[in-house]
Amino acid sequence: MTQILSSYIGGVWQAPRDEGTTLLDAATGAPVARISTKPVDYAAVLGHARNIGGPALRELNFQERAGLLTALAKHLSGLIPDFTELSLRTGATRRDATVDIDGGIGTLFVYGGKGAKELPAGKILLDGEYEQLGKGGTFGLQHISVPRLGAAVQINAFNFPVWGMLEKLAPALLAGAPSVVKPASQTAYLTEMVVRAIIDSQILPEGALQLVCGRPDGLLDQLTGQDSLSVTGSRDTAAALRRHPVIASNSVRFTAEADSLNSSILAEDVKAGDPEFDIFVKGLVTEMTQKAGQKCTAIRRAFVPAGLMDAVQDAVVAQLAKITVGNPADESTRMGALASQRQRTDVRAAVATLMSAARPVFGDPQTVPENFGVDADFEAGAFISPVLLRADDPDREEVHAVEAFGPVSTLLPYEGIEQALDYVARGQGSLVTSIVTGDDDFATRAVLGSAPWHGRLLVVNADNAAENSGHGSAMPHAVHGGPGRAGGGEELAGLRSVQHHLQRTAVQGSPDFLARLGGGEEGA
Ligand code: NAP
Repeated sequence: MTQILSSYIGGVWQAPRDEGTTLLDAATGAPVARISTKPVDYAAVLGHARNIGGPALRELNFQERAGLLTALAKHLSGLIPDFTELSLRTGATRRDATVDIDGGIGTLFVYGGKGAKELPAGKILLDGEYEQLGKGGTFGLQHISVPRLGAAVQINAFNFPVWGMLEKLAPALLAGAPSVVKPASQTAYLTEMVVRAIIDSQILPEGALQLVCGRPDGLLDQLTGQDSLSVTGSRDTAAALRRHPVIASNSVRFTAEADSLNSSILAEDVKAGDPEFDIFVKGLVTEMTQKAGQKCTAIRRAFVPAGLMDAVQDAVVAQLAKITVGNPADESTRMGALASQRQRTDVRAAVATLMSAARPVFGDPQTVPENFGVDADFEAGAFISPVLLRADDPDREEVHAVEAFGPVSTLLPYEGIEQALDYVARGQGSLVTSIVTGDDDFATRAVLGSAPWHGRLLVVNADNAAENSGHGSAMPHAVHGGPGRAGGGEELAGLRSVQHHLQRTAVQGSPDFLARLGGGEEGA
């Protein structure tokens, strides 16, 4: 029998007592590990975070905590080859693994660097300027931010077992909040490997990080107003957790990143053969195939001027036809497998729903993909073809509502920018939209019209294409999250996310005292 994943709780690795459920290699179907189907003692976990991890982190100042992040990033960088090998078992190619693993470690580096450069060597963060309140100048106000006293509980999705953990962990550590990480079961073995490396390094103080490989039942019941809960996952999960009575009644800080019908808009000024045309096509193919389309930011809806639909379709199909699907370990494979058979079933079902409103112009989710690797087993692995759909009636509700969490996108025609913006908004709130145009007036109107619906917009043209960070890349500097359907949460955005773990307090008093608070040993 394969090994069962342990949880790191209360300062020790604890092996569960049940047999658990077996997690399978996404590409071969071979067992990789088992994971417990039982909850752990959450009172002990949260107590350890609040009483051991929190105080230890708060002993350090912002600069010192930034130093921990940089040290951790350096340490993990040396282990990338080991993490990558295990990552292949999630169905990800080596190139996909860089997005998850190198991307996660890069996020730690950015937070370490920003913390060192922009945060004080003190324990209080000043927020804004001193404001005089009394006419005589003896009384005023200074807003400050200090670490909260609870645990930062982080529930992650299966598709980014490393980045998903590290992008939540970095701002929490910088703020001084101890983290309790619950990875998604399907790929928890990779998260566990990285957590083992972090714990073994002894870089973090004890209690700053705990890992739960097991069911979350009972976890939320014990959260208080000093704790926070951040969840990445499906819309249903996010909604269920948001509705939990303890979250509401204890005002637990809550943030969710849920599913999202992200878009890309090809502007009306673009003609076939223009650089922007190629940029749009290339961006779409990348987003469809990287991580087999299992990215929360992937383009699901591609809006094209009606007159260009055929040209875009031909160009995208030509590129998809070159995508080799197969064993993620094979260097010639461009697209690996979905994370599990369950995901394949879900993607097939979503495509079937989408096909009531759109027709496939490339790929069949049920059959062996074109260019399928000789050493891959289509039935044993969770392989699927990229699927390009075309909806000639973009008013159909399904195309704006159904997220197929795999290598699936739909081409949609529009006439006039107002119509394009109306369709984009029908996603009810998304993580990201790309606007591909050489026309700054189009771009300005598109930004103004679509920004209320998004956490991030990417405006790409021939001049910036070579350096652009990519539609799907959640850069640590930029907001990751989105309104409405996307969960209503906000992560990353540089040091802004550190504030999620701090309490902002207005301190009123005499100017001398407030100046000392900010500038003294404890302050900025
Ligand atoms: P999921 O089934 O919603 O699970 C997400 C996480 O929530 C997992 O860790 C899961 O644990 C946990 N969970 C489920 N029910 C729970 C409960 N009642 N209490 C506490 N935790 C619970 O989603 P998934 O299949 O892992 O991920 C796919 C979805 O995530 C897609 O829809 C995708 O759009 C979305 N996603 C969004 C983002 C983003 O940043 N916006 C990023 C990645 C993915 P188990 O795995 O143990 O069940």
